[in-house]
Amino acid sequence: MENQKGYDLYITSESATVQDYLDAVNELIVYSQISRSRNQNSKCEGCPRCCAERIPLTSIDVELMMKGLGFSSFAGFINKYCHVVVDGPVVDIILAQNIKGECVFLKPDGRCSQYRLRSLVCQTFICSPSTPRAVKLRETVVNKGEDELVRRWFREGRNKKGELIIHEAWEPDLDINDWQVNAFTGKKEYRDVLLREVCTQELWHILTKER
Ligand code: SF4
Ligand code: SF4
Repeated sequence: MENQKGYDLYITSESATVQDYLDAVNELIVYSQISRSRNQNSKCEGCPRCCAERIPLTSIDVELMMKGLGFSSFAGFINKYCHVVVDGPVVDIILAQNIKGECVFLKPDGRCSQYRLRSLVCQTFICSPSTPRAVKLRETVVNKGEDELVRRWFREGRNKKGELIIHEAWEPDLDINDWQVNAFTGKKEYRDVLLREVCTQELWHILTKER
């Protein structure tokens, strides 16, 4: 974009984790001078313009939020803070929204009430131009984390004799085999998930090539 300052990212270590990725993006948000297409101030602080969108959750987001908010029941957390939509074979588990279509955690002053617990999607979105490899990494990490959350949702439902929590549904046609074990399986923190295991070989190759 003309006159817009964006960002690229590349991976320098074989043992880089999703937490390293989050740390890098958080540092970028706070300290860099990159442009913000939705905010003339070019700062995220106090700006709520991306908090009224679909916010998909990963298995680790839910793990960390449950711990941080004192929930021991997965179903209790999903019912209070999430919205589960089933559309044919697709399951979408997102943060719930208030009547204005804003995230449940958004405060009236435009700040996040759970900033330290905010989702991976919240932490990695910046309304700045970015390179295709940066976009692809975000998309890949989010998708794997979402898939693992859906696997957990199925599992928890089965434990409760097949009672899946669904808030909206259109002709559900679900098959648990569509959600396979992946790099997020069994992991409770982002530092436990290796980017090497999240990325395809091709994406890893692209991301580890310094320009
Ligand atoms: S990324 Fe979100 S919070 Fe940051 S400036 Fe853009 S719209 Fe506002
Ligand atoms: S969790 Fe916080 S940062 Fe994320 S959408 Fe909700 S209010 Fe915004």
